[in-house]
Amino acid sequence: MTVSDAQRLSALAQRLSEDLAETQASLARLEGEVGALTQDLDDEGGVPTTHMADEGSDVFDIERLQTLRRDLEERITQIELAQQRIADGTYGTCAHCGKRIPLERLEALPHATLCIDCQAAQER
Ligand SMILES: [Zn+2]
Repeated sequence: MTVSDAQRLSALAQRLSEDLAETQASLARLEGEVGALTQDLDDEGGVPTTHMADEGSDVFDIERLQTLRRDLEERITQIELAQQRIADGTYGTCAHCGKRIPLERLEALPHATLCIDCQAAQER
């Protein structure tokens, strides 16, 4: 590995930790929103059916936010996995076939754990 490769890797590690902090902040914000919506629903619990329309959209919002939350949690898991791989020195090699993942790919997708071939095979 050349010096500039090492620098690119450390820039990637930096990006991963920034990304993690950002994603965790989004998740916290989202959980606040879900909490507020759930609270609304509870408040409306005893109210007659005139509120049905409102409740319907709240339920929809909660489902949408929960999907978003799952995405964010998934992203956090992937970032943490990448950081773990940096720590144990396996970052940048494919978790499936062990080939080196090109830095260009990692720079496009810092938390990638598979090379393009294995990723494609997994998605088929
Ligand atoms: Zn591979």
